[in-house]
Amino acid sequence: MKWIRKEKTANISYEEQIKSAAELIEKSEVLLIGAGAGVSTAAGLTYSGKRFTDNFSEFIEKYGAMSMTDMYTAGFYPFPTQEAKWGYWSKHSIINQFLPPAMPLYKQLYNLFKEKDYFVLTTNVDHQFQKAGFDNNRIFATQGDYGLIQCEKGCHPKTYDAENLFYQMNQARTDCLIPSYMVPKCPVCGGNMTMHLRCDQYFVEDENWHKAAKNYGNFLNNMRDKKGVLLELGVGFNTPAIIRFPFENMVHENSNLSLIRLNLKEAVVPESLGNRAIGIDADIAKAVSDLCAEFRNH
Ligand SMILES: [Zn+2]
Repeated sequence: MKWIRKEKTANISYEEQIKSAAELIEKSEVLLIGAGAGVSTAAGLTYSGKRFTDNFSEFIEKYGAMSMTDMYTAGFYPFPTQEAKWGYWSKHSIINQFLPPAMPLYKQLYNLFKEKDYFVLTTNVDHQFQKAGFDNNRIFATQGDYGLIQCEKGCHPKTYDAENLFYQMNQARTDCLIPSYMVPKCPVCGGNMTMHLRCDQYFVEDENWHKAAKNYGNFLNNMRDKKGVLLELGVGFNTPAIIRFPFENMVHENSNLSLIRLNLKEAVVPESLGNRAIGIDADIAKAVSDLCAEFRNH
């Protein structure tokens, strides 16, 4: 880091922050959205509580409530067999990707920004941006996709659509296990398959991933001489190197850019960015609603 990471907390009121954020967005020519897990949580796709216990009771019963506390930790459970692994993951994908419609929060975001020259960089893997109407050519989901599977060893750079397979597994599951004949095998090396989620060095960056990376690069080049806003939504400190820190760097290095950070509890922004950064510490759903209202008033 070239500058001292000194962070400031809000010294203006929430209402003033929303007003300033709306003004910045209105005056911007380009808008880069960076979205983390916090947006989907705020949208209602929570990984714990009732949504977990209602949908995963059989897994909680089988593996124990100590191991199965929520969908995040359940994903790290060391399932002893492929039948057990796919028994869990097929259900997880259906619940988090295939079943939910576009959530109202994502639709609000789309309506706010659809007329803008925008791009979405996200660590989310649940397709909510696409469902809400955001253009797939303007989305880079760096960490994978709940609907795709790949070779566990990444032996070839290809991913496979697993929606039908997951629904079949979901139908056939007994005692949390899928039948052995449904266990997918890599068509190239014959080894195991796994979810297309970045969790180790075998994550496959396929043709679509590279295409999206290129689109993102082009957007950044194009943004250089324009008045731009970087709108960061629900990005915490889990993977700050993908969105949070690069966004701060970009704004620091380019005086045409401003940063709006929406986050519950982790909304601090570097002091060195002065009034080009607004950190709004609030529930994202509420803040986005208030932003919408602010736009309607103009
Ligand atoms: Zn393979």
